[in-house]
Parts: sequence; C-alpha cells; structure tokens
Amino acid sequence: MVKLQDLGMLKFLISQNIDNLHRTSGIQDDLIAELHGNVTLARCQDCGKKYAKTWDRPNKCSCGGPIKSFIIKFNDEMPKQELAHAFEHSKQADVYLVVGSSLITQPAGSLPRIAKRNGAKLIFINRGETTLDRLADLRFNENSNDVLTAIVEEIKNE
Ligand SMILES: [Zn+2]
Repeated sequence: MVKLQDLGMLKFLISQNIDNLHRTSGIQDDLIAELHGNVTLARCQDCGKKYAKTWDRPNKCSCGGPIKSFIIKFNDEMPKQELAHAFEHSKQADVYLVVGSSLITQPAGSLPRIAKRNGAKLIFINRGETTLDRLADLRFNENSNDVLTAIVEEIKNE
C-alpha cells in the first residue's frame, strides 16, 4: 500500500485494522480512515483530533472536548469523520481494491457497493469468499501480498 502511495496511485485507504500497521509502514495521516480505531492513538470525542497515546498527552483537546482512547468496540458508534471520509472516497474511486476482508462487518462491508454504483472497477483480493463477490470486476482468491506485489510491478513497468 505504501508503494502504491509513493507511486501516487493510492488516493485513500479505508482500514478495519486497529493495529497501527498502516501508519507504521508509512501511510500518510490524511490518506487513511481507521473505522475501528487505532490502539496507539487517543482521540477528541468532540472534534475527532488525534493524539499519540503518551503518558503526557493532555486530558482535554484544544477545542475543550474530552480525549479518550481511540478504539471502537462492538456496538460502539463509528467515528464520524472517518466514516464520512470513507463514504466520500468510495464515491470518488475509479479503481477500488478490497484486500483481506470478507466484507461481513458493516458499514465497511457496504462501501464497495457505493464505489461500484459510482462507476468504480472493483478488485477483490481475499482468500475465501466475500459477501460481494458477484460485484467484483476482478477476483483474486490468493495471497494478498503476492497479488499486490505483482500489481505494483506492473504499474512500475508502464
Ligand atoms: Zn477537540
């Protein structure tokens, strides 16, 4: 994903991971929505501003809102900003990669449908079925790392 970002091909990344892997690998802050939160971050409950989870982080945001741990638990409300960005970018996408998700968890699971409705080509890379397989323009039932590496190589060779 970082290689796609560096090639200017990654417009936005919607993640259901909370493990901070994408940020650690170098994905830019403005290119990612973490729908389920991030274990390494805290977040203002009012304005959504994010803070590193350090011992000396403030208790209150500059806007006055309370800062809490940024982990979305089952039945918690989704973070509004992240969700809004995810929907907006899903509408704008021309190519929509779904990587390593069965798309069972909502609302992330319905985002590819929005992309498709707005003209995107859908590429699914997932071992095992996804709930939206019938919508895919390209479907890889393979290891995502292998497929993504091949895609990056093809792009570089063009
Ligand atoms: Zn705030």
